[in-house]
Amino acid sequence: MPCEEMQQKIEAYLDGELTLSDQRDMEEHLAQCNRCSAVLHNLRALSASVKKVGTVTAPISLRRKIKSGLREMTGEGADAFNWRHLLGVGVGSAVFASFCVWFFMTFTALSPLQPQPTEELIAAHVRSMMVSHLTDVASSDKHTVKPWFNGKLDFSPSVLDLQEHGYQLVGGRLDYLQKQPVAALVYKHRAHIINVFIRRADSAATAKPAGYTHQQGYNLIRWRKDGLDYALVSDLNEKELRQMAVLLESQLAPK
Ligand SMILES: [Zn+2]
Repeated sequence: MPCEEMQQKIEAYLDGELTLSDQRDMEEHLAQCNRCSAVLHNLRALSASVKKVGTVTAPISLRRKIKSGLREMTGEGADAFNWRHLLGVGVGSAVFASFCVWFFMTFTALSPLQPQPTEELIAAHVRSMMVSHLTDVASSDKHTVKPWFNGKLDFSPSVLDLQEHGYQLVGGRLDYLQKQPVAALVYKHRAHIINVFIRRADSAATAKPAGYTHQQGYNLIRWRKDGLDYALVSDLNEKELRQMAVLLESQLAPK
């Protein structure tokens, strides 16, 4: 497959969204194409640095290149118009162009048009168990958990009692996804914790939330109903998690 076609799919590859056969083609191509490998390497580095910093900051190597490019351009004194200056302008524009591409990609990735990102949902689930901050309000009584959210969100999440189906309500907490407060309801099934994330659906979003995803050892089920986005995250097996999703969705009161 030609490089161009590969590079169109490279972001999907990075996100683990390619079909198995596309994935194999990609890996075969990457093994023998330095150019595409370099593109992948750069994308990885960018997404890692964006994740690490959490805000929009250019990677250090890129910042260095921009700085040195600018230094070349300003010429620093007498040799302002020699060949170094011309080279500097060339480097500067190339760096600027790649900065624009990076900037655009970053903002596309962070734009609110994205459905709740899988990694962030999993991270929030893992975090909830790691820092012993599973619940802000610990109760198996929905009449205690539901009113706790009053005034903390611009919507009122339905809290359902699924005890008779084996899903015990543990409590609720306020979590943050894409820097926005979301409701997290916590249920327990045998030894498995299930986080149910609920947030107001972005009306501008055209992408429907995906159905089922398995990633990093966790299962995710997402759906949208009555203007709210729901996401279940757990290490519970797919079958039972689906069962719970069906229960929740069917019992949620119509608007
Ligand atoms: Zn290639």
